[in-house]
Amino acid sequence: MRAVKITILLLILLVLMVWGAGKALSAPVLIKLQLTGESDYQKANQLGISVYHKFPTEVDGSNLVIAEFEKPLLLSLDNAGLVYQIVDEEPWSEGYYLISESERTEKTELSDYGKILVTDRNFHFMKISDEKARLLAGKGYYIGKVFRHSLPLKYQSRKIELPKNQPFSPSIDSLLSLISQDSLYAWDLRLQNFKTRYSYSDSIIKARDWLKNKFIGFGIDSVWLFHYNYDSDQWNPVATVVGTVRPDKVLVVGGHYDSVVYGSGTNPYTWAPGADDNGTGTVANMEMARIIAQNPLPVTVMFVPFAQEEQGLIGSDYFAGYLEGLSTDLPLMLDFDMIAHNIGTHKAVKIYGDASTMDWVNLMISMASTYTNLVASYAGQSSGSDHYSFYQHGYDAIFASEGDFFNYGWHKNCDIVDSLSFPYMKQVTRMCLATLISVARSTGYKIGDPTQDGVIDVADVLYLINYLYKAGPAPDPQLSGDATCDGHVNIDDVIFLINYLFKGGPTPPGSC
Ligand SMILES: [Zn+2]
Repeated sequence: MRAVKITILLLILLVLMVWGAGKALSAPVLIKLQLTGESDYQKANQLGISVYHKFPTEVDGSNLVIAEFEKPLLLSLDNAGLVYQIVDEEPWSEGYYLISESERTEKTELSDYGKILVTDRNFHFMKISDEKARLLAGKGYYIGKVFRHSLPLKYQSRKIELPKNQPFSPSIDSLLSLISQDSLYAWDLRLQNFKTRYSYSDSIIKARDWLKNKFIGFGIDSVWLFHYNYDSDQWNPVATVVGTVRPDKVLVVGGHYDSVVYGSGTNPYTWAPGADDNGTGTVANMEMARIIAQNPLPVTVMFVPFAQEEQGLIGSDYFAGYLEGLSTDLPLMLDFDMIAHNIGTHKAVKIYGDASTMDWVNLMISMASTYTNLVASYAGQSSGSDHYSFYQHGYDAIFASEGDFFNYGWHKNCDIVDSLSFPYMKQVTRMCLATLISVARSTGYKIGDPTQDGVIDVADVLYLINYLYKAGPAPDPQLSGDATCDGHVNIDDVIFLINYLFKGGPTPPGSC
């Protein structure tokens, strides 16, 4: 018995020694790393680099990333020909945030608040405490918390196959006609009347439950509360309408429901109306959910008002990480934040994305010109709202916001419905819903189902024959007719489908 005890003690000692030695050897540093092509991404993945942040994609498809790596092993990066620079020798001794300027930032000496480690365009990667980052938010900076979890390092080689032309669609227009301006106004007023939706107030819990109950009232398939705890218990309501053709594909519609106020004489615990920021994005989300619940789309849609956007995009980061963990097939996340302030007859709306999401941005702009009286334009990259969390987690995400930024009311106690234009907001909601439906239709097809009715049958064979030999309409998107996944629609696809339907041949693949 005694011998056993001694052996166990020795074993524990050995484990402690090895662990201690491992710790001494381990000397991670934070680096900035420039990834310029697919081979750079492959090398970085092979070397097992942990990436914690990815700046918006450049026009040439390259990315500047922040990563952690063992200092003694940096030579292997040199050997691989990767371009890097050490930016922090003591990683995570304090937290990191991405800080960027908004349209009404009171510019200040950022280095008084924390250490600026990397600046890329208008984005500053800073080592800074939560408290100091929130002080900068009070000065009108956008803040995004950087979490210590590895992000997927994916080269953006995906091909978006949008329908070739996006003509006016009466069926989209009839769904848009269901948008009720009265509901948008009444629900935004209701959110304002919670007095505050500050993340640490009691009343945000009431607002959360009200949102959940509204979603249930719309007859939505599944409504639940996604819980997480960063610095407090928080919940994102999640309302899911299951897709009719490709339920495995998911589009996320977001827009935070928390609010905040800054400045002397204000107290976010008692009054932070947040009618524009972001009652408007929240109620647009609700109105789209109400309509889609009764008119499901080919793909699944999750409507998610996020918590704690104002503390650094926290609720959306947890949720994007959750979806990433489930390996969710998520073609696009659409974010709406501050969409009802408009001066006079401007009717401007801004769409934010980056080089990797320009196709989606252009689609939204075309939806605005086809279905609304708005003037939509690309406004560059932004880290100012929840889309950025999805971008970090490797998903395409775009963000729409009013063209006339609510300068005097933003994060102030006068952010109330009386300052907003609901006819304008109705138009923005039309643009949002048209985009959602169009994206759902263009991503929600089955390969081998050019009729897009969700079933692969003889009608699909006839559709292809009609296209190939009788000048019938082409499969749109083309992939829906390309059962062999060889990049062409031809007689091989017809044979493949006949083989599958009548001779027990292989099933058309889920993706090419
Ligand atoms: Zn906001």
